[in-house]
Amino acid sequence: MIYLDNAATTPLDPEVLETMIEYMRNEYGNPSSKYYPQAISAQKSLEHARTQVAELLGTRPEFIIFTSGSTESNNFVLKGVAEKYCKKGKHIITSKTEHKSVLETCHYLAKKGYEITYLDVDQSGKVSPSALLETIRKDTILVSIMWANNEIGTLNPISEIARVCSSNNVLFHVDATQAVGKVDINLSQMKIDFLSLASHKLHGPKGIGAVYVGPDQLGIRHKIPSLIHGGSQEFKYRAGTQAMHDIVGFGKACEVAKRDLNENIKHLSVLESQIKAELLSANPKIRFNGDPTQKIPGIISISIPGINNELFCKQVAPIAAISTGSACTINEGSYVLEAIGAIQTETVRLSVSRESKLEDLKSLIVATKVATV
Ligand code: PLP
Repeated sequence: MIYLDNAATTPLDPEVLETMIEYMRNEYGNPSSKYYPQAISAQKSLEHARTQVAELLGTRPEFIIFTSGSTESNNFVLKGVAEKYCKKGKHIITSKTEHKSVLETCHYLAKKGYEITYLDVDQSGKVSPSALLETIRKDTILVSIMWANNEIGTLNPISEIARVCSSNNVLFHVDATQAVGKVDINLSQMKIDFLSLASHKLHGPKGIGAVYVGPDQLGIRHKIPSLIHGGSQEFKYRAGTQAMHDIVGFGKACEVAKRDLNENIKHLSVLESQIKAELLSANPKIRFNGDPTQKIPGIISISIPGINNELFCKQVAPIAAISTGSACTINEGSYVLEAIGAIQTETVRLSVSRESKLEDLKSLIVATKVATV
């Protein structure tokens, strides 16, 4: 059976596993404790992991806050900015194809009196910077746009959107959960204020992630209220004793992702082209969703005329783990496919990783041919 649901989550990297086992075997100190060796060692491991995450993003460690993952990071930023800047305004802009953790947080904020604009995307799934510009108002306090979409892989024009936001003095949050490890990110050269990422999408452990909290105009880290109150961990942005084994694993996953970035991008791009060519030759009626070039490599959304996607996923489950779309909306229709005008019931998502090989996909490719006969 081949695993082709890497957009949902990825298997743990063996180097990450080794690092975590080693850590759990030998270390148990609390990084917030003081003076004695176990505590100092835990502090060093914590700051090392923070540096590994920062280096993958092209930023400094003090801008990285550990969280439980992207859902928490997105909640923290949206709710935190809303609370902090409610006197300046109550207007937030996002897009119709964001992850549920952004959209549901926006719905929550709407109930609290905030006004949310959900931007349309074009047929390939991209937000238009000029449409964004027209939507920005005096009372707009935040723009939240994802870097890469989790169902179709389409990349948004993040640099241009960042320029529109900064020239209009509006804070910019990016959900980069699917882009990290597949796009060369350099936050020191972009005006992004907040960015969310999750370890389990890049071969790290689950239940750990981070949020980049960038500098304000004075070069001081933006200060927004905590989501989780308690101790003064994570520079007082996120209370609670750090899950050190997960943090150490996440740090290692980031180090590996940075080291292998170019090789990984190349492998995924070549593999994606080969898979697409094979799929088309098996079934010329297959259509690919999303942007053909402005995309992260590895997420392949296909519509196969005549199939029922749920049935198809079930039928191929013994040979391949694929999905109808996001794991977070698995029992609902896909608002992403709706937004780009794709036929939901005929659409499935294959998402490959650096461990995937073309030869392992052969029976799945044959199944796409049989599906419409
Ligand atoms: N944002 C995007 C784009 C995602 O793909 C996901 C997970 O699928 C999330 C946020 C939520 O991440 P987590 O599972 O770390 O809460």
